[in-house]
Amino acid sequence: MSASRIPLRPELQGIEPYGAPQIDVPVTLNVNENPYGPSEKIIADVTQEVAKTVGGLNRYPDRDFSALRAGLADFINHESAGSVTQNNIWAANGSNEVMLHLFQAFGGPGRKAVTFTPSYSMYPEYARDTLTQWVTYPRGDNFEIDIDVARRAISETQPSLVVVASPNNPTGTALPLATVKHLARAADEVETGCLLVVDEAYAEFRREQTPSAVTLLDEFQNLVVTRTMSKAFALAGARLGYLAAGTEIVNALRVVRLPYHLSAVTQAVASTALRHSEELLAHVAQLRTERDDLVSWLTSQGYDVAPSDANFVFFGSFPNRHEVWQGLLQRGVLIRETGPDGWLRVSVGTPAEMSAFKNALVEVTGE
Ligand SMILES: *Cc1c(COP(=O)(O)O)cnc(C)c1O
Repeated sequence: MSASRIPLRPELQGIEPYGAPQIDVPVTLNVNENPYGPSEKIIADVTQEVAKTVGGLNRYPDRDFSALRAGLADFINHESAGSVTQNNIWAANGSNEVMLHLFQAFGGPGRKAVTFTPSYSMYPEYARDTLTQWVTYPRGDNFEIDIDVARRAISETQPSLVVVASPNNPTGTALPLATVKHLARAADEVETGCLLVVDEAYAEFRREQTPSAVTLLDEFQNLVVTRTMSKAFALAGARLGYLAAGTEIVNALRVVRLPYHLSAVTQAVASTALRHSEELLAHVAQLRTERDDLVSWLTSQGYDVAPSDANFVFFGSFPNRHEVWQGLLQRGVLIRETGPDGWLRVSVGTPAEMSAFKNALVEVTGE
C-alpha cells in the first residue's frame, strides 16, 4: 500500500513526533529531569503499595482518584500557601495530558489560544491536535512579558485560553505576580471569557522571592495553575501532572477525559510518593544552589545567562550552537538545542555532572 493512501490529516503530513533525542550518554542534562532517584525506603514503600494494587487490577481504578486529589491538595497548600480542596484539583498522565484536557474543553475549532514566545514547544501541538488556532506574541527584553503588549495582544485576539509557563521553558524566567494579575484581568475582559493557564512545571525550584500563582486562585476565577511530579518530585517516569483551579473548571475537564485515564498503579505510586514529599523535595534546595552556582560560572565565562527560577539554565549566544552541542555530546554531555537561535539550555544535575559539563564546555569553546 502506498503511503499516500493513508488518510492522514493534511496538517500532520510530514510532521516528526515531538521529543528530545534519547541518546545513551554518561551525562544527561537535556530534559530537566531530577538527577536524584528515590531512596531505598521510598522504593520499598512504593513497591509495597503497588503490590497491593496489583491484586485488584481486575477492577477499574477509582475514576475520580479522590485519595490522590486529596494528597495533591495538601501538598500544594503546604508548598505554596494555597487554600484548595480536592475538588479544585485535576490530574492526568503528565501535565502534558492535563494541558490537552484544557485545550479539549476550552479550545477547539473557531477558538484561539495565545502565548508569548519563546516558550514550551509542546503548546502548539495541543492547539493543533484540538483544532485550536495558535497565536503567539514575542516576549520582550530578558524574555519577560511586557504588560502593555500582552494586554493589547489579548484584547485584539480574543482567545479562550492564554497559556504562560512560569518559570518559563526554555528560558527559566518566572513571571512577577503583578504580571500574572494583569494577564488574568486582561483574559477576564475577553467577551466570551478566557482562562489564564500558568504552567508551573518548575515552581518548586523558584527562588525565595518568587511567589507561586497558586496564591492568586481565590482572587481570579479564570486562573488555572498546572504542576507536575516530573521535575522537582523526581517522578518523570511515573507520568503524573495536575492542576489547581475553580471547581467549575475541574468539572469541565471531567467531561473530556477518557474514563479511568489514571491507572490504579499510577494513583498508588503518586499517592505514596506524596507521603514522602519532604524527602523527595529535599534535593530541590541542593539543585537550587547548584543552579545559582552554574549561573554565576557561566556569567563569569562571559556568556549571556537568563535569570533562572528553574532547574535549568539558558545561556548564549553562540554563532553556531549546533557545533557546541555536538562537541559536548562527543564528550559525553547531552544538553538541549532549543529556543532562540544561538542559545542552549542545560539542566542542573549532580555536582559531578556539573563539573563534566563545565570541563566539556571549556574544551569545546577553547578549540
Ligand atoms: C517538563 C515540562 C512539563 C511537564 O510535563 P509532564 O507531562 O508533566 O512530564 C510541563 N510544562 C513544561 C513547560 C515543561 O517544561
